[in-house]
Amino acid sequence: MARTVGLDMGGTKMLAAVLDSDYQEIEHAKKRTPIGAGNEETMLAIADVVRVALEKSSLDVSDVSSLGIAVPGPIDHKRGHVIAMPNVSMHDYPLRDKLQDELGLRVQLENDVNAGTYGEFIAGAALDKENVLGVFPGTGVGGGVVLGGELYRGRHGKAGEVGHMIVQAGGPRCGCGKLGCLEAVSSKTAIAKDLVHLAMTGQSETVLESAGTDISRVKSNLIKKAMAAGEQPVIEVVKRAAWYLGVGIGSLIDIFDPDVVVLGGGLAEKLGEQYLEWVRESAMQHSMIRSDASIVLASLGDYSVVIGAAAIGTGE
Ligand SMILES: [Zn+2]
Repeated sequence: MARTVGLDMGGTKMLAAVLDSDYQEIEHAKKRTPIGAGNEETMLAIADVVRVALEKSSLDVSDVSSLGIAVPGPIDHKRGHVIAMPNVSMHDYPLRDKLQDELGLRVQLENDVNAGTYGEFIAGAALDKENVLGVFPGTGVGGGVVLGGELYRGRHGKAGEVGHMIVQAGGPRCGCGKLGCLEAVSSKTAIAKDLVHLAMTGQSETVLESAGTDISRVKSNLIKKAMAAGEQPVIEVVKRAAWYLGVGIGSLIDIFDPDVVVLGGGLAEKLGEQYLEWVRESAMQHSMIRSDASIVLASLGDYSVVIGAAAIGTGE
């Protein structure tokens, strides 16, 4: 297999990496995501960051076999359209074909969490496993499913939305409109909401000092810091979110009987083993088959998405 390019279209930055045949990075380039730029301009910005990554690698498009792009939104695989990417205002746009024409390179699109799960499957924590669940608690709770060594997309390419599994019927309202979705009770956003409440009621000095009552300023690092400071109410909030994540994962283990569940994203990475242990305990409590499926942390960090996108881009 030849060299490939993977690109992660994030909410704030685009990361393009040129990879060798073992998915090791040769070079990468980063660029700000053009917020609100619209279809054409966004496509050209993507082409540009790919060109810069190739230049830095002293390579030309003819030296790489394909480009895989991970986007934060739904995709129509058959037509190669991005259905929606709200923050860059891209709507029902034939990104695959437009980029192929612009770059003269074979292009594939994938949803970012699917790509992240696939990256961990092909080169990370789930290497050599066949049945893999990826769960990525962050702003929401993203998910991906690899079954029998293949990414499972479902009828509309929307499969794997583990974040919208109901784990507390009648519970808090989710961004999707339903009540009690997994992400409404276990995402980083859900944790941040509770921590801001603690800050307001004088139960977390650390959060009050660093973020005030601004939810968007409660980052994974700050959550970690407040826990390390021994603030018990903060620890309880995170523990409850981890417990709910385990409720969801327990059911997923019963449905898919996977070889491994990979926990990815910045929150899991920052909170590490303690968080993982809470999730694990709850998942085992809430799984009927109590399989020997291991629950592990992702190992590729930011690169799970880029590597997954590149691997999917090869079409193999
Ligand atoms: Zn939901």
